[in-house]
Amino acid sequence: MAKQPIITVKNLVKKYDDFTAVNDISFEVYEGEIFGLLGPNGAGKTTTLEIIETLREKTSGEITVDGYSIDNDTDAIKKRIGVQLQAAGYYPNLNLSELIDLFSGLYGIDKSPKEMLEKVALTEKAKAKYKDLSGGQKQRFSIATTLINDPRIIFLDEPTTGLDPQARRNLWDLIRDIRDKGTTVVITTHYMDEAEVLCDRVAFIDGGHVIGIDTPDNFIDKLVATGFDRKKEVKSANLEDVFINLTGKEWRPE
Ligand code: ATP
Repeated sequence: MAKQPIITVKNLVKKYDDFTAVNDISFEVYEGEIFGLLGPNGAGKTTTLEIIETLREKTSGEITVDGYSIDNDTDAIKKRIGVQLQAAGYYPNLNLSELIDLFSGLYGIDKSPKEMLEKVALTEKAKAKYKDLSGGQKQRFSIATTLINDPRIIFLDEPTTGLDPQARRNLWDLIRDIRDKGTTVVITTHYMDEAEVLCDRVAFIDGGHVIGIDTPDNFIDKLVATGFDRKKEVKSANLEDVFINLTGKEWRPE
């Protein structure tokens, strides 16, 4: 079956005064995939995401999200997407259940906190405050909040930064699960190992330009076909394997 684009970005430009942060970017995200935006610091990834999320104004270009134009259908787009809040948005005196109630109220929908916390394996923390969660739990909670309005697409900006190897793997499982249930995921990450195992396709952005879009496998095969040959790894494990091995198991409840 042909892949259906759910996000189309055409010739997107974003200028901050006379600095061009995004310089004529075009790409499509297909329905039901995990799509990664990769590139160095300052490449324009967050700017691009926030424009698609209707949080920043573009300078020029065309964007459609689930068939709606960013120019005149921002309300329809907001209803169809899930965006992670900055941690500052999590009122310190409310527990996770109360926060879910609060966010549901903002969306004007009635969602059971238990159901939402179950999705991210945090039911036991229903009465805990956000600030008392571990880093991995905080990220999982933040992902739960993106799912409250049953979005067609969620956007995750560096969701695994600062997490330990097991918490990172937990989050990969969660993100795959969300994708497998039919939600499209757009993610940024600086970890290429993560993009390689998690993303169905990736776009590399550099200096405000898209410099390549493909599946991780195709990118690697194309590089190998040029004769590229990485210095051979002589050991069949790495330090992350040691970490996982010493601390118990690949998956650990937090
Ligand atoms: P990182 O990987 O570090 O998060 P990024 O790819 O997400 O980087 P952006 O945050 O989109 O990059 O920033 C792209 C460029 O635009 C950077 O040079 C940044 O300094 C600049 N920039 C971002 N926001 C603004 C702003 N509000 N005003 C002026 N310049 C900005």
